[in-house]
Amino acid sequence: MTPLALGDWTAHTVDAGFLWLDGGSMFGSVPKPLWSRTNPADERNRIRLAMRCLLLRGHGRTVLVDDGLGDKFSDKLRDIYRVEPEPSLERSLAALGLEPGDVTDVVLTHLHFDHAGGSTRKTAQGLRPTFPNARWYVQRRNWDNAHAPNPRERASYMPENYDALMEAGVLTLWEGPQRPWPGVETIMVNGHTRGQQLVRVAGGGQAAYFVSDLIPTAAHARIPFVMGYDVAAIETMEEKRALLTRAVAENAWIVLEHDPETALARAAADGDDFTWAERVPAAAGPPAGAPLAGSRPAGEAAAR
Ligand SMILES: [Zn+2]
Repeated sequence: MTPLALGDWTAHTVDAGFLWLDGGSMFGSVPKPLWSRTNPADERNRIRLAMRCLLLRGHGRTVLVDDGLGDKFSDKLRDIYRVEPEPSLERSLAALGLEPGDVTDVVLTHLHFDHAGGSTRKTAQGLRPTFPNARWYVQRRNWDNAHAPNPRERASYMPENYDALMEAGVLTLWEGPQRPWPGVETIMVNGHTRGQQLVRVAGGGQAAYFVSDLIPTAAHARIPFVMGYDVAAIETMEEKRALLTRAVAENAWIVLEHDPETALARAAADGDDFTWAERVPAAAGPPAGAPLAGSRPAGEAAAR
């Protein structure tokens, strides 16, 4: 848990377990000898990935950005994706003193199962929203994409993760970039999947970006390190350059959703590419309640 003070917002990273995905798919055209140095593969060529969500508290809201995989997977899917369910999202929220009913809003970056699966859970009455008092938000373009998926993305979209939200009347479809609360804005990117939205939070002279699958791990800071999963690699590279250019100019924090070791980092230009100037390990943030803003975290100084 690494709290960040952003004006009237306090931001925490919140773990929702781990899964393992094919290393080749995660790094696209990057040769395995390069990516396997930082992200070693298991005997089935899978690499370990976090499902790190962002929790924002302030302005009377308790906002979650993405909600992990959930617990609806069959044994077969649990094996395919080598799911490590702990720490569960519920347990991580409890560690912050929060119950599911405390969450007021959930911004979904997109509807792929490792980002939106925690939205619903099985009950005796069927699938129900996980957070009973929350409203969810996703881009209409991504909702439409999920309901008419192209063949490459079909396995990533599972209707049991989100159709019950619409049926319960708790899902809002956003059209384009939004400013839902003071200091919070969403940024549209379309290279990974159509209608992905990133979240920028700013306050007190600091900013943080939740970059979801635009920059899934620390290794993906490099412009050509694009996932094989992405529907449009050239768009991803352009969107990543724009995002990192802005973040470097602002000296902003970047929250890495999938990196198993690095929760937060600050980027730096490196020629016409990017690297990390500062990194905060996932398990080694400052103690809860100590805002990071203005302090030097104990992360390693150099990029790996
Ligand atoms: Zn995705």
